[in-house]
Amino acid sequence: MEPILYFVIPCYNEEQVLPETCGLFLGKLISMIDAGKISQESRILFVNDGSKDATWSIISSLTEEEEHFAGISLAHNRGHQNALIAGLMESRLRADITISMDCDGQDDINCAEQMVDEYLKGNEIVYGVRNDRSTDTGFKRTTAECYYGLLRAMGIEIIPNHADYRLMSSRALNALMGYGEVNLFLRGIIPHMGFKSSVVYYSRAKRIAGTTHYPLKKMMALAIDGITSFSIKPLRMITFMGLFVALLSFIGIIYALISAATGNIVEGWTSMTCIICFVSGIQMISLGIIGEYIGKIYLETKRRPRYIIDESKNLKSVTEE
Ligand code: UDP
Ligand code: MG
Repeated sequence: MEPILYFVIPCYNEEQVLPETCGLFLGKLISMIDAGKISQESRILFVNDGSKDATWSIISSLTEEEEHFAGISLAHNRGHQNALIAGLMESRLRADITISMDCDGQDDINCAEQMVDEYLKGNEIVYGVRNDRSTDTGFKRTTAECYYGLLRAMGIEIIPNHADYRLMSSRALNALMGYGEVNLFLRGIIPHMGFKSSVVYYSRAKRIAGTTHYPLKKMMALAIDGITSFSIKPLRMITFMGLFVALLSFIGIIYALISAATGNIVEGWTSMTCIICFVSGIQMISLGIIGEYIGKIYLETKRRPRYIIDESKNLKSVTEE
């Protein structure tokens, strides 16, 4: 029997984009069904991430017109990663394979077939990796390169140039559920699970309409989350920095004592100021890093749900086994 495929597509304020891209998604799904590659039960599952515009009403009417469209609506805007997880969890119970992608047409839907072929060859996870970054600004390219370098230095394994365009089998999704943390950093955890996987290359297009929801601030938050949820190396670095500064201080003390003994007491003002500034700077950074981890612990201990589903359309109810 053909596998059931669900596309999971998070949408936040995408009223300009959805009417254009929904046809592309549907066309691909139908052609794959017609080719006998996937089951007739396959769906395109939109996740409305608490949009403030007409996104949900567009999704609702799509689900009424066409049985292959389905939708869930989150009660609040929970961010791209949580919206994605909500969709993956719903599709996990209904599909054999799930492909997650953006709704703005940037992830090339034509790769979906190749991804399914890779799955049929026995891969549980197939990563969509962009083969060039020419549609990005120079700034985004450079920051991305630096970030991958930093993650590698921290011992975190991620797939370079892969975002959230990927295929996962229901087996892999069930394993993903075993990770109990509230703040799941998908791009780090999924390679970490170690299933048989492969890669499909695609070139990332420009956004069809609208603007990105990932301004610098959100990008940095995701970057910091990625590191702090996976590695405690920054904390260890603080210890080494502390040791280094302690050594410097020791030298400083000897210098101060010698100065005092030779009667040059006032002369030390510049060096004193430099030391105070240097040490207090390091202390502030260290406190900030420690604070990041304490914040993570705080958020995890509350064990709040990652998302709340408000409404769903065209999804058969299932009971979790
Ligand atoms: N998105 C979401 N919730 C958010 C922000 C974004 O569900 O709070 C969705 C958005 O609709 C899109 C995907 O996540 O389908 C990726 O966002 P975007 O295209 O703005 O990011 P970029 O591709 O520029 O990194
Ligand atoms: Mg995008």
